[in-house]
Amino acid sequence: MQLLKPDYIATSLHEIDLDILRQKQIRGIIFDLDNTIIAWDSPNMQPEITDWIQSLLNQNYRICLLSNNMPRRVKEIADYLGVPYVPRAYKPVKTGFRRAITELGLNPEEIAVIGDQLFTDILGGNRLNLFTIWVSPLSKNEFFGTKITRKIEQFTIMVLKAKGVIQ
Ligand SMILES: [Mg+2]
Repeated sequence: MQLLKPDYIATSLHEIDLDILRQKQIRGIIFDLDNTIIAWDSPNMQPEITDWIQSLLNQNYRICLLSNNMPRRVKEIADYLGVPYVPRAYKPVKTGFRRAITELGLNPEEIAVIGDQLFTDILGGNRLNLFTIWVSPLSKNEFFGTKITRKIEQFTIMVLKAKGVIQ
C-alpha cells in the first residue's frame, strides 16, 4: 500500500510548488506523457504546459519523458520539447525508469516523477525511491483499459485515506 502513496499530490502541473522540489534538492524530472503533459486524445500540447516545462528547462532541471505509449508519439513530443525520452516503458516495470534515470545522469534521490496514474507512474517511481508527484489527468477521455484502472485507483485512494496514509 505504501508503494502506491504519492509523496505529493497536485490538481495540475502549475499547482506544483517548485520550492518543495528545491527543498528536496530535485534536479531532474521524469514526466509521464499521456494525460500528464498532453491530453491522451490530443496531438498537441497546451501552450501553457509547454511554457511551464520550458521554464523548468531554463531553471536547469533535467527532463526525460517516460511513457508506455508507442515510440512515434513519444518521440514527437520529446523532440518538440528538446528532451530525451523512453517509450513503450511498461510502467510500473523498473527497466524503463532505470533507463530514464540513466538519461538524466542523476541519483534517484535527485529525481522526481510526475504522472497521472497511481499504478504506473507512482508505483514505479516509489519502487525506485524517486520523489513521486501525482497530478490529476488532463482529459476525462482515456484509453479503455485506463478507465477500468481508474475505478481501482479511486478505491485505492479511499483505502489509503481510511488508513490515514494520506489526507
Ligand atoms: Mg498518463
